[in-house]
Amino acid sequence: MTTIPDNLQQVRSRIAAACASAQRRADEVTLLAVSKTFGPEAVAQAHAAGQRAFGENYIQEAVDKRAALAHLPLEWHCIGPIQSNKTRLVAQHFDWAHTVDRLKIAQRLSEQRPPALPPLQVCIQVNIDGGPTKAGIAPQEALALAQEVARLPRLSLRGLMTLPEPAPDFESARQVHLRAAALFRQLRQAGLALDTLSMGMTADLEAAVAAGSTLVRVGTAIFGGRARKV
Ligand SMILES: *Cc1c(COP(=O)(O)O)cnc(C)c1O
Repeated sequence: MTTIPDNLQQVRSRIAAACASAQRRADEVTLLAVSKTFGPEAVAQAHAAGQRAFGENYIQEAVDKRAALAHLPLEWHCIGPIQSNKTRLVAQHFDWAHTVDRLKIAQRLSEQRPPALPPLQVCIQVNIDGGPTKAGIAPQEALALAQEVARLPRLSLRGLMTLPEPAPDFESARQVHLRAAALFRQLRQAGLALDTLSMGMTADLEAAVAAGSTLVRVGTAIFGGRARKV
């Protein structure tokens, strides 16, 4: 039976190999362990194996898990949809939010970020492959939104996040990720100080790293399959 520490080691090796093929340094890519649907014990095991940053999709589940693990120095990333009525919980309980795609949500997060905490680190979610019903702002609107978000006092804009449809093979996955990387470059050239390109999951992390991802969000390869499909 494989365990969380073994799985983590394998994922780290995959990232290192992908960085080597892309002639990038291994420390250019951060691993976010996506612990949605798994309990505090699983997170604690991953932490004991050296993992620090965890991604969660369901706000209330994450708030409960974080409370159960308050004794550990973990970093919590919100990677699920953020409705208006959930912004306060996100502002209070997370270090990062990757899924900001509307100014109104960003404004609420900034207003509701407790003064005692450092600014909330945020990424703008971009609908990079153009699914009509998908979360994320259209690529051509990302620069304008990023400029507004960058002005909000209690947020620190770090970059972009994408969640494309599963691709049939490495090359088609890489092509979609390259579009995100080009947009990321464009925003930096426009003067935004961005350092985070959040893309790549269990199935496509190699393609994402090849295209320039700086943060991969990996769940299944670390914690195993999920009963709930999300
Ligand atoms: C679930 C999820 C992941 C992790 O997906 P895996 O395929 O299990 O690695 C990454 N990002 C987001 C936004 C997710 O919802």
